[in-house]
Amino acid sequence: MLSNGLSEDDLFSFLSSQKKEDIDYRYILSSMCTLPHPVAVKAHSLFMETNLGDPGLFPGTASLERLLVERLGTLFHHKDAGGYATSGGTESNIQALRLAKELRPSTCPNVVVPESAHFSFKKACDLLCLEIRNVPLGPDRRMHADTAAGFIDRNTICLVGVAGTTEYGMVDPIEDLSKIACEHDIFLHVDAAFGGMVIPFLERPIPFDFALPGVTTIAVDPHKMGMSTIPAGVLLTREPDMLDALNIDTPYLSVKREYTLAGTRPGAPVAGALAVLDYMGISGMKAVVAGCMKNTERLIAGMGTLGIEPAATPDVNVATFVCSSAPAPWRVSWTRNGHLRIVCMPHVQRDSIEAFLKDCGDMHA
Ligand code: PLP
Repeated sequence: MLSNGLSEDDLFSFLSSQKKEDIDYRYILSSMCTLPHPVAVKAHSLFMETNLGDPGLFPGTASLERLLVERLGTLFHHKDAGGYATSGGTESNIQALRLAKELRPSTCPNVVVPESAHFSFKKACDLLCLEIRNVPLGPDRRMHADTAAGFIDRNTICLVGVAGTTEYGMVDPIEDLSKIACEHDIFLHVDAAFGGMVIPFLERPIPFDFALPGVTTIAVDPHKMGMSTIPAGVLLTREPDMLDALNIDTPYLSVKREYTLAGTRPGAPVAGALAVLDYMGISGMKAVVAGCMKNTERLIAGMGTLGIEPAATPDVNVATFVCSSAPAPWRVSWTRNGHLRIVCMPHVQRDSIEAFLKDCGDMHA
């Protein structure tokens, strides 16, 4: 630590110089996060000091968290869903598996996940001492129910389906997975961290939520397509009181028990997430998602005219290509199979897509 504090001018000139080293969002084509919506920023700054880890001190903020859960539960066809605000998909996935472990006890528990599952499932299984069974995908890059069924045995506590895969933007056939989850009486956790704020707003939504009887829990991240400030995730449960199974005693707080993973939890991004949902409404979100999908289609078509083939036909706004290089200054990413990956988030405007296509054309000329 410095022995004497800096002047405010010196401090902020240092902070600004560090911020200048960050990449301008205009060039970021690789991220599932985006620039927060202005109403999220405004709401976030109103709730900066709030701590949902001690909700008795912040009852107003705690009621916003309940409203956020209710809004998302309703969007996912289950108004009475339980849930809470997490730090994002990783925490939601860990807690979903923790719930399955608690409520489906087994001496040697295993979890069946698609090969496309986010690496947070590996972390969750490591932490919870669960065996992870990776199911190979079909040629369409989705996990098929009959293949998954072959990996389920009497020690399987949870089947995982992904609604909007991180790498290729695919939605697993959750309807079929729901059937086998019911048949085997196991949990079905749907990782909709990305797709949860896309699929309900598509022209033709794909079934993935609590309307399917086998779906037990859903992870959805407002800090991705929900345009909230970071960190904003939500874990939803079919049974309103399901999370109580994770309760531990918290002697010195304003509540006597908590089921969350984190102790101190920020109320600000929760206010930000709710603000975006209420400001945009269904029609506003449909417009944002339609724009992102249109940009994804334009990008795929434009790359096609350059002779660069798509690696998948995505269900959501993630475009991948059989291509081994991309022009500077664009920040793209690469899948584990070596495909170029671009996420057409709300900050990726049509002019950026056109500029990227032109630079690709120049590079491959
Ligand atoms: N699940 C999916 C499908 C994701 O795409 C991601 C991140 O991209 C996660 C989980 C992890 O989310 P977070 O980084 O917010 O913890």
